[in-house]
Amino acid sequence: SDHQLKYPPQPSEMDWSKHYPQFYPTKDAKCDKKVEFADIGCGYGGLMIALAPLYPDNLIVGMEIRLKVEEYVYERIKALRAQNPGQYQNVSIMRMNAMKFLPNFFEKGQLTKMFFLFPDPHFKARKHKARIISNTLLAEYAYIMKVGGILYTITDVRDLHEWMVEHLDAHPLFQRISDEECNQDPVTEHVRTATEEGKKVARNEGDKFLACYRRIADPYDA
Ligand code: SAM
Repeated sequence: SDHQLKYPPQPSEMDWSKHYPQFYPTKDAKCDKKVEFADIGCGYGGLMIALAPLYPDNLIVGMEIRLKVEEYVYERIKALRAQNPGQYQNVSIMRMNAMKFLPNFFEKGQLTKMFFLFPDPHFKARKHKARIISNTLLAEYAYIMKVGGILYTITDVRDLHEWMVEHLDAHPLFQRISDEECNQDPVTEHVRTATEEGKKVARNEGDKFLACYRRIADPYDA
């Protein structure tokens, strides 16, 4: 079934037809569109569902490790597709552990946007290795991102924000985008407000710390 954690041996073997049948009528259908936006730990899917009608030409995938949450989002998208013929065909959800095997799904330079919205904070020091931003994982994110692509992070936890900024600042292939430029990006308001966790933080009048980075060219990648 769709609900098993399965990983393609390489991106070319990934069957996208289950996710985007309008774009990929069959597993081997040739399609010049590839998934470009990935929402890592997408939860209940609020961001993807806000972006789908705004970016109808971009394929968007949410990655979520919890089975129940994945099932909920799957049904949510199914209902939206049924109620809005022709729409929401570009958004889908995948159950997976995003800390593993991302390069099995995406080719080098494939993604133009990656989202890390209100990730689990893993407060205790001995749990920090479970954080979704780390040196090892940033190397993978850099690999699957296109030069010029944008990685968005937001959290209500100051300590986690500082951790993500520290690791991203130290990485040679990511460059922080100024707050001014972030605020001109039409996606940013959705990053702040569209997810279920973001709405909860707003209800509780919590802080939201945003940091966005551009994937820059590797000087050794001639
Ligand atoms: N981004 C959503 C939002 O803003 O509403 C959800 C935030 S929630 C605090 C973090 C989500 O990340 C949870 O739904 C959790 O199941 C998911 N998650 C945690 N680790 C993950 C992993 N390794 N792979 C995929 N999803 C993961």
